[in-house]
Amino acid sequence: MVHVYGPHIFHTDDDEVWAFVNRFMKFMPYVNRVKATTGGKVYSLPINLHTINQFFDQALSPKEAEDFIKGQADSTITDPANFEEQALAFIGRPLYEAFFRGYTVKQWGVDPTQLPASILKRLPVRFNYNDNYFFHRHQGMPEEGYTKMVEGILDHPSIEVILGSGLTRADADRFDHLFWSGPVDGFYDYDQGRLPYRTLDFEKFTGEGDVQGCAVMNYTDESVPYTRITEHKHFSPWESHGGSVCYREFSRACGESDIPYYPVHLTSGNELLNAYQDRAKAERRVTFVGRLGTYRYMDMDVTIRAALDCGRSFLAGLGG
Ligand code: UDP
Repeated sequence: MVHVYGPHIFHTDDDEVWAFVNRFMKFMPYVNRVKATTGGKVYSLPINLHTINQFFDQALSPKEAEDFIKGQADSTITDPANFEEQALAFIGRPLYEAFFRGYTVKQWGVDPTQLPASILKRLPVRFNYNDNYFFHRHQGMPEEGYTKMVEGILDHPSIEVILGSGLTRADADRFDHLFWSGPVDGFYDYDQGRLPYRTLDFEKFTGEGDVQGCAVMNYTDESVPYTRITEHKHFSPWESHGGSVCYREFSRACGESDIPYYPVHLTSGNELLNAYQDRAKAERRVTFVGRLGTYRYMDMDVTIRAALDCGRSFLAGLGG
């Protein structure tokens, strides 16, 4: 199983979303444990007691580590206004510079002072040895992959799938209602300009046996041009493979013919986004959904929750 759009680990606290995806695919137990290489050494992510003890060459207990990190944190920042301030107020400069600054500059292409604090809040800091990347109760990998899972969702007598044909705003007239999951600016033919997105390039390489020893290794130094290396076979430990497929992942500004992956939200706000979203809100027969349609940095489970809610409220509006 190769995650051709980058590593996707399904995780959620939402029981209904978990039950929904399990209707279409068996999920195998999987816990995401990420490692990070910085300054020529390997550490455990998210930042946890092991990371702290290794990084500072200590043998601190949870309580001692918490006090120690409080001492590192910048207590003068009481209301963090951006990613960098949030990190400095939370963990202090040495950990920020080793694990967050370089990765974030590479991932988003801007200085972390221009990014909202909410991006950092995706990542926990733990004062114990729990290195599970996610807090959620449900976590797993689709046994036969996401493509099969989506095929299962689409396998319904009322659903017709038409591929390779494109869809434009003009097509909306052919339908009672259109749910648009493409880019919101794309719906309007980019007539007011293009919203910023990040796209990803993957450089594939192969090896034999175990190439890096884990599924995802982040490279958090700015001097390394890629953000992470994924060794895909570790996502399906229940399978056995002699060879191995790996992807080096590079992030860059999304051009006109690239696939948009991440909407870019800056602290300075986005007049263009407001303009498109005002138009989108005024549409009566079109609903904008998904990461691109709503221009939000949503995980898979949040996207599915939003889709279920959207479908329900649409049907309720029809009286059905
Ligand atoms: N991040 C970081 N260092 C890391 C991992 C993440 O600085 O080693 C920051 C970075 O800004 C990234 C954000 O945290 O964009 C969210 O990380 P996550 O792993 O959730 O990203 P995703 O898998 O969605 O690309």
